[in-house]
Amino acid sequence: MPKLDGRTILITGAARGQGEQEARLFAAEGARLVLADVLDDQGEALAKELTQQLGEDRVRYQHLDVSSETDWAAAVETTLSVFGTLDGLVNNAGILRFNELVSTPLEEYLAVVRVNQVGCFLGMRAAAPVIEEAGGGTIVNTASYTAQTGMALLTSYAATKGAILSMTRVAALELAAKGIRVNAICPGAVDTPMSNPANAFAGGSGAPVMSAEDAASLAEATAELYAKVVPMRRIGRPDEIAKLALFLSSEDSSYITGQPVIVDGGWLAGVSIG
Ligand code: NAD
Repeated sequence: MPKLDGRTILITGAARGQGEQEARLFAAEGARLVLADVLDDQGEALAKELTQQLGEDRVRYQHLDVSSETDWAAAVETTLSVFGTLDGLVNNAGILRFNELVSTPLEEYLAVVRVNQVGCFLGMRAAAPVIEEAGGGTIVNTASYTAQTGMALLTSYAATKGAILSMTRVAALELAAKGIRVNAICPGAVDTPMSNPANAFAGGSGAPVMSAEDAASLAEATAELYAKVVPMRRIGRPDEIAKLALFLSSEDSSYITGQPVIVDGGWLAGVSIG
């Protein structure tokens, strides 16, 4: 039997990258899906493609800026009016800015907090009562290996990912009695538009801030870096993160809550020699 048969799950940041792979895998595992993002064209196209593939009306796209309370209220309302219930949430949307601590403008710091940290908080707050009404379910937050260790140039990003882990633990404690499990994924480096230097500084806005040539040489340098520092000698694939999101959203993880789960090719295990 498919692992998410008949369950309704909302995935944020679902238009591309890890969220897109989560959408594809969850659809294949029988879920009814609300795909939410600010990249409307890409999100609509994915929802259309999955609907054609499944031959059933099981996937909807919803515009949702995760930092907006109004958008969250509308997304939950749409989910209930289309599917009648909500059983799960994957808080996946996120943005990344590289900057030195001493050069980071307050507005840049707050922009990352608004999407990554406030977005996760608003999502859990909006979804939990509805998931409780459905008889319980799951919330999967997306943190990062930078929630577990430091990385230069990532003050704002790492701060939000640490906050996501803290919120995950508190939410798990408060929601366990309501039948809701809350866990967090901590990916290492994963091959998505976010980790592509051509997009990295622009986060969700999609505006490249370096030349294609510079981006290509930086991409080469980071690939070499991952081959050295990651024990498995490669960057992760977004479908490998989706499999963890599926595990944490399904009955296979029925006794796990409040946990950060690292998926990083062994990066955080220690120093790799040889
Ligand atoms: P990505 O940039 O490919 O995808 C992120 C998605 O979030 C995009 O579709 C984007 O439009 C959406 N988004 C951005 N701002 C939004 C907003 N305000 N409201 C709604 N959606 C918004 O990146 P990804 O690698 O797929 O990242 C997915 C998650 O994984 C993020 O939370 C990211 O921080 C985390 N992560 C990524 C990596 C990596 O190496 N790629 C590593 C650790 C953690």
